[in-house]
Amino acid sequence: MVMKEERQENKSGQSPDISKMSRLLLTGSTMLADVCPDCNVPLFRKDKIIFCPNCNRKAVYVSSNDEVKEVEHMHLFSESIEQLQDILTGKLNYLSQKLASAESYEEMKDILQLVELIVDIEKKILGP
Ligand SMILES: [Zn+2]
Repeated sequence: MVMKEERQENKSGQSPDISKMSRLLLTGSTMLADVCPDCNVPLFRKDKIIFCPNCNRKAVYVSSNDEVKEVEHMHLFSESIEQLQDILTGKLNYLSQKLASAESYEEMKDILQLVELIVDIEKKILGP
């Protein structure tokens, strides 16, 4: 017997993806009482990360009143990936300063190659 998981597909795209949400619950995510400020779909929590399953974005809480302030414009990442992104951004800033003060073509070339590498890695992390 073949199990059909998706019996009813969302045609309009307006209603939340129920099958996706139930799958999240099955994989250990917790549905929260708060809703996404963008689409009003209940937020989920998994491994300390709170996210909107509809927007596929991470939610950020305001520490003062615990209200959802905004939904970050980024895909879901583990914390280590976020740390890596921070480091890469820092290195890019450092390299652009180095590039500005570079005096030889050789030095500029080296810096630009590094910049290219970092940008490539960031693209891979961010995905399409
Ligand atoms: Zn949302």
